[in-house]
Amino acid sequence: MKRFNAVSISCLVVSKHATALAIFLVIILGLAPYPGIASAKIVIYSARQEQLMKPLIDAYVAETGTTIELITGKEDELLQRLKEEGARSPADLFVMPDAGNLWKAARAGLLAQVYSTVLRSNIPAHLRDRNRRWFGLSVRARTIVYNTKKVNAAELSTYEDLADSKWRGRLCLRTSKKVYNQSLVAMMIVRLGQREVEGVVRSWVRNLATDVFTSDTKVLEAVAAGQCDVGVVNSYYFGRLMKKNSSLPLSLFWPNQGEGRGVHVNVAGAGVTKYSKNGKEAVAFLEWLSSSKAQRLFADANMEWPANPQVPPHPQVAAWGAFKQDTINVAHAGRLAATATLLMERVGYN
Ligand code: FE
Repeated sequence: MKRFNAVSISCLVVSKHATALAIFLVIILGLAPYPGIASAKIVIYSARQEQLMKPLIDAYVAETGTTIELITGKEDELLQRLKEEGARSPADLFVMPDAGNLWKAARAGLLAQVYSTVLRSNIPAHLRDRNRRWFGLSVRARTIVYNTKKVNAAELSTYEDLADSKWRGRLCLRTSKKVYNQSLVAMMIVRLGQREVEGVVRSWVRNLATDVFTSDTKVLEAVAAGQCDVGVVNSYYFGRLMKKNSSLPLSLFWPNQGEGRGVHVNVAGAGVTKYSKNGKEAVAFLEWLSSSKAQRLFADANMEWPANPQVPPHPQVAAWGAFKQDTINVAHAGRLAATATLLMERVGYN
């Protein structure tokens, strides 16, 4: 709005003749496009997949007439691109499927502080940046999955218990290179301290049934096939696989319940870029994303839990059972990612 006013006023000053006045009126009335004052357009850099973003974008465009350009890519690539482009970046909104990368973007000074009472009231404190630079929009649990033919749920208890020798040769893990595992270990470090976590992760590696996998889905398939008995995965990958084949002998287990700290959760979330040329529109879209209607679309598209606690999860997700989540701020995932990565390297977790 500020930009619009500024340009409109300069137009008045320089134009005393009719043509310029006509142009000015056209701009004011919004009847025609004018270079630099086109109708609202938001450019999104998203590491959340296109098919998950598309339904939201379509709904918002239909509702508001805003033009949205979606550019998708891998987490690291988009972060690097935003860094390199600096003030020239066309990006207005930065969407990531993990708090770790949102934290990195904020740390690099690439995200703007957003003062929004809507976002503050819709998104719980542990799922957003304390300095208002990014906000979680959906919750995913990184939890234990087990083969129901080979494991009794009563044998399972905590992430740390997967270090017990009873799981020797029975555990499957995804590579430590994936940010999801860096975040999980980072949060464990906050809760348990580096020394204890190093012992736990070393024993996880010792308990591996086979080499680490490149994806959560491959971990799930290995557990289902009996190549291993237990694994650690993001909940929605379980949902996707079971949707394809509900007869697989797989079940999720919620660890660290009762007196424990709760299940490790992470967020898919977003922040407005520091150099956004359409900050106001980007904030409006972000606020809309936190609303009930959009939260349903956002979470359901990927079988996640809405970050907004007022919004119930999809019945299919609710069917996995209620659980206590760890309410430590997800920003720690980023803060301690490097420490976690070094720890995993030290114990030979590839
Ligand atoms: Fe994922």
